Amino acid sequence: MKKLFLLLTLLILFTGCDKEIKTIIKDEKELVAINYPVTNIGPLDDAISSYVNRTYSSFKKDYSNLKQPELNISYTYKELNNAVVNISLTTEITANKTINKIKTFTYDKNTKKFLSMEDIVSDLDVLDYDIKQKLLEKYREADIEFLANVSYEYFTIDDENLTIYFGPDILKSNSNIVYLDIPLNSLKLLIDIDKSKDSDSYISIKKKNISSTDRIVALTFDDGPSKYTSKILDILEKNDAYATFFVIGNKVDFYDEVLTRMVQNGNEIGNHSYSHKWLNRLSEAEFKEEINKTQEEVKKATGFTPKLFRPTYGGYSDRLKSYTDLTFVLWDVDSRDWQVKNTNAIINNIVPNVKDGSIIIMHDNHSYSVNALEEVIKKLKDKGFKFVTVSELLELKELRESE
Ligand code: ZN
Repeated sequence: MKKLFLLLTLLILFTGCDKEIKTIIKDEKELVAINYPVTNIGPLDDAISSYVNRTYSSFKKDYSNLKQPELNISYTYKELNNAVVNISLTTEITANKTINKIKTFTYDKNTKKFLSMEDIVSDLDVLDYDIKQKLLEKYREADIEFLANVSYEYFTIDDENLTIYFGPDILKSNSNIVYLDIPLNSLKLLIDIDKSKDSDSYISIKKKNISSTDRIVALTFDDGPSKYTSKILDILEKNDAYATFFVIGNKVDFYDEVLTRMVQNGNEIGNHSYSHKWLNRLSEAEFKEEINKTQEEVKKATGFTPKLFRPTYGGYSDRLKSYTDLTFVLWDVDSRDWQVKNTNAIINNIVPNVKDGSIIIMHDNHSYSVNALEEVIKKLKDKGFKFVTVSELLELKELRESE
């Protein structure tokens, strides 16, 4: 029964899915990773994309002559109820110093209006005193003069809290985002808020027949999930092939049914960090947070916790490796799909270079890989290769060495 229910929700998802997460990742001269939702709600999408474009172009203008500048834009997405969506975009720019900014959007599809905190929380003028007092308790160095004129412009809402964000000017010495959590049950709300659904962790996994003498290859996809991922799953399923998906944690909740289907079809999910930052620059705590948040998201979506990690931009060190038990997985065959943007070029970058035990890197956040995939699978099967997940490939290699 549970399985039937799952299939039905999958069907609904694949026929009715009209929103997606857009990912922009550049990894040659500039370190740029941008993830943001596209909702197909006109005014909301316009506001989000113009904010992203503005941020990206001023980054290019202001930081281009500094050494290895990095732009990272991450998001949260929450449907408060059937009509109201709340989205936050967190921008982190790292160059000679780190700058954090947050912007939030709350939009009502019914009234076609952006909502302010006054539209959501009742008696805001009464609350104001409490908020300021709590803020002073949390941040002792908060600037009282600034606080007097503070407005509650940016906020997010999850199942437990209303979180209010304040500009960086509020603290003199801090470039981090200043915020305050207020428990929802202490507020009088003017709109209904639906609690998140629990995900179904029951999954039966497709079995495959592989022996240690087979010629094996592992397909891997980075930077998803995205709106293209279900098409990739279709092609894999149809051709009896399997892959490993190194997912960006902040996109998982948005595509949790796609992840369920990945596992169900016998594919593997690996960790590709939470927001796709350049990892070598992170402290131990920051790195662990990037890993652990993704582990939690995948577990919440599928019931499975990843064992593998693919470092962003392929960059890592022994220091980073010592912070986690996850196995770092790189690749030996590079499709360069994001760069060549051409189906034949992708096929030619892959097929002649695959050896027994190869790991191929592709990306599931654009259409080029989707178009090349079927031909890649066909040509490699003709050469006698069987498709396995990365964990299966590593196990088989170990087995061969012990034989
Ligand atoms: Zn990546």
